[in-house]
Amino acid sequence: MDGNVGLQTRRGNAVPRGVATAYPVFADRAENAELWDVEGRRYVDFAGGIAVLNTGHRHPKVMAAVQAQMDRFTHTSFQVIAYEPYIALAERLNALAPGDHPKKTILLTTGAEAVENAVKIARVATGRRGVIAFAGGFHGRTLLTMGLTGKVAPYKAGMGPFPTDIYHAPFPNALHGVSIEDSLAAINTIFKADIEPEQVAAIIIEPVTGEGGFYQAPFEFLVELRKLCDRHGILLIADEIQTGFGRTGKMFAIEHSGVVPDMITVAKSLAGGFPLSGVIGKADIMDAVPPGGLGGTYGGNPVACAAALAVLDVIEEEGLLQRSLDIGDRLTGRLKGLAARTTTRCISEVRGLGGMVAIEFASGRSHARSGSHQVTHRQVSGKRLGRSVLRSLRQCDPYPGAADRRRRGDRRGTGYPGKIPTRLGRTNCGLIWSREPCQHTHAVRLQPANCEHPKRHDQGKEERHEKIISTIDNGGDCRCRRYVA
Ligand code: PMP
Repeated sequence: MDGNVGLQTRRGNAVPRGVATAYPVFADRAENAELWDVEGRRYVDFAGGIAVLNTGHRHPKVMAAVQAQMDRFTHTSFQVIAYEPYIALAERLNALAPGDHPKKTILLTTGAEAVENAVKIARVATGRRGVIAFAGGFHGRTLLTMGLTGKVAPYKAGMGPFPTDIYHAPFPNALHGVSIEDSLAAINTIFKADIEPEQVAAIIIEPVTGEGGFYQAPFEFLVELRKLCDRHGILLIADEIQTGFGRTGKMFAIEHSGVVPDMITVAKSLAGGFPLSGVIGKADIMDAVPPGGLGGTYGGNPVACAAALAVLDVIEEEGLLQRSLDIGDRLTGRLKGLAARTTTRCISEVRGLGGMVAIEFASGRSHARSGSHQVTHRQVSGKRLGRSVLRSLRQCDPYPGAADRRRRGDRRGTGYPGKIPTRLGRTNCGLIWSREPCQHTHAVRLQPANCEHPKRHDQGKEERHEKIISTIDNGGDCRCRRYVA
């Protein structure tokens, strides 16, 4: 098989650049919290496949359940011939979701598909057309979910027109000067300026924004939203695709607030790496759509359902909700200590709900500009972080192992992301690179914002080495790519 550089070349020739990849290393195998690339380098995987691997890579119990299902059948399409694992999972999710009303669950494949279906169901159940979402929120990459997503670059730019009857209100964010009252007032302005509340089918919100920077919706705000929805007959949808299944120390993040939504969208860590999503909702709402109106060829694939049932067992048996709280406490404690020690006051906030923790950097007195950037630990430890580029540390620890390993200071392997860089540099479009004592330069990506093209990429001795460690994920016009080793 080709090495990383060879595969990167083949990827460039065969795969469109719109599918950006954070790191130009190619996976060979993975186990629990660790991953090995095609050149045999070992990494601790802090990304967990974008918050998909709360139970780690290839958990033995999940793999056994998958194997057993594969030995029986892998697909029938639930709409043609139904099967027990789908029903068992729906029963389990209905029991787990907050609220003591009867519930029903539809299973699908991707997160965006779950959100699309929640909106379809809300529209049919209410007979209304409007949907209100929040600025900075992320709900997917299909046309409807892109419309709901409250972030133009890089998700929506140039891809309109979007479906109509979608409205955005500001997400309450005290750090950036948006109060709960401001957000509620903005929703009232939507009711006055854009659409009457009697025509709004649903309000959709992430209890903690995932792609948007790990901002937690204040509990009082969720309570007020619930009241507002009840007052106007609007359905409240909690998008828990990123926050679900133990990530925040509860099975669903909204449980922290005590608010009971009408529908919850789920995906990602539900099936430990297998594509599966769902909508859990009040039974009468879920039954509003007549037969044939919902579904999809692959929705609720039996192998993915078997994986999900095992994932739910593992979360319970291994006490992963408590573990998420412990990791969150440890991480926020350490990061707050770091923030208190930094004399430059470059850290404007350390925040978290359970293990979903972010650190936000500010430049001087102004906060980092809006838009989240997923970064590695290396950046946190960097002294020269540059102006306003870096915003949040995304903590997608797979369980168990990564945190323990980090705590033990295990730094074997050249690719260990927890290693503290000895030197940091910064290019004009936001790439931060560091040279390690091992003589490997590790680069991490930051959003290049409106980079016009590299001017300083050639600077320094580190340019052009034998391996590509990171390319810039531009999502815009910058085509620059840094080769470092
Ligand atoms: N909603 C949220 C909150 C998400 O974080 C994501 C994925 N990042 C989605 C929806 C879309 O999920 P998918 O990529 O599986 O379509």
